Amino acid sequence: MSAPEPMLKRPCHIPEKAKFPVIDAHNHLFGDYDHEEMLKVMDEVGVRGFINVTGNTILPYENNCYTIQRRDIRVFVENYIKLHQGRFAAFTMSDFAQWGDPMLLKDNNFTDRAIQHLEEDVARGACGLKVTKELGLFFRDSAGSMIPVDDRRLFPVWQRAGELNAPVLIHVSDPVAFFLPVDERNEHYQTLQEFPHWSFHGSHFSKWELLEQRDRIVGGHPKTTFILPHVANNPEDLDYVSKLLDRFPNVYIDFSARIDELGRQPYSARDFFIAYQGRVLFGADMPVTTNIYRCYFRFLETNDEYFDYPDYIGRWGHSRWKIYGLHLPDSVLKKVYHENALRAISNLDIILDG
Ligand SMILES: [Zn+2]
Repeated sequence: MSAPEPMLKRPCHIPEKAKFPVIDAHNHLFGDYDHEEMLKVMDEVGVRGFINVTGNTILPYENNCYTIQRRDIRVFVENYIKLHQGRFAAFTMSDFAQWGDPMLLKDNNFTDRAIQHLEEDVARGACGLKVTKELGLFFRDSAGSMIPVDDRRLFPVWQRAGELNAPVLIHVSDPVAFFLPVDERNEHYQTLQEFPHWSFHGSHFSKWELLEQRDRIVGGHPKTTFILPHVANNPEDLDYVSKLLDRFPNVYIDFSARIDELGRQPYSARDFFIAYQGRVLFGADMPVTTNIYRCYFRFLETNDEYFDYPDYIGRWGHSRWKIYGLHLPDSVLKKVYHENALRAISNLDIILDG
C-alpha cells in the first residue's frame, strides 16, 4: 500500500555544504569502502572528519542485516588514518566485537583480555571504546545467564577506559516500538516486518530496565566519558534525556540515525539542542552519500517543513512520517558540528581547516 501523495507546497533549501566543518562522530565501514570515494563525498559536503567507531571490525551487509567481522584495527589505521592525516579516526570494540556467538563471558578472564586489547588498540591510535547493543539483549555468561549492562564483572573495563581518556560509546536498547508487539498499531511495523530480527518484543530485560542499567554504569563511573548514541536511545522522550544530561556531566549524546524522531517534534528538539548545545555530537551512522549528509544539514540548519529523510540503513522512500527543520543558531551549529566532538573525544586527531 503506497501512501497518498501530499499536495502541500513548501520551499526546499537543501544545503550543498554544511555551514561549518563537520565531524561525523558516529559511523562505520559498511563493507570495505574506498577511502578516496569517501573523501570525495566528505569534501563535497564539508565533512572534515569521519570516525569509524567500529575500527577493529568491518560490517558487511548480507541477507538484510549487518554482520560484524573482526579485523585488526591496524588495517584501518594504515589504510585510512595514516594515508589521510587528520581526516579519519577510529574507536575499537575491543573484545565486545563478537557476533553469532552469544556467550561473551566464557571464563573469568574476559575483562582482563578486553582491557588488554583496549590498551593495545588505544596505543595503535583508537580514541574510544564502542559497545554495541548485544550487551543486555544477547550476550550471556558461561552459566547461560543474560549479562545485564551493569554487570559488575565488566566494571573494570569502564574504569580503565576512563583512565585511558577513551570515551565509551555504548548503544543500549532501541526504539520503544522495537520492544512492542509487531502489529499494525506498532509505529515501526513496516520496518519490523522487513527486519524481524530488530524486534526485541519479549526480551529478557525490558527497554526501561536496560536504560536503568546503562544509567547506573554511567553514574558509577563519573571519571569516564560516555557517549550515548541515538539521543541516549530514547529520543521519543526528550524530557528523560534532559534529566539524564542534568544528572550526569560525564555524558554526551549523538543523534545519529534519529533525525526522524527529532524532526517530528521540532519545537521540543530545537529547545533541547539549544539547552544542551555543549553535549550533542553529530553522527550519521549509515553508509555515507552526499544526499544523506545534506539531509542532516537541512534538518539542523533550515526551517524547511514536512520533508523526507533516509531510513536506518540509508535508503530513501521509507519515511514513516515527515520531519521539520530546526533552524539552529550558528553558535549551536558550530558546537554540534565539531566543537563538542573535539572536547568529548580528547585524543581525536581531526584537522578542521584543510
Ligand atoms: Zn552505529
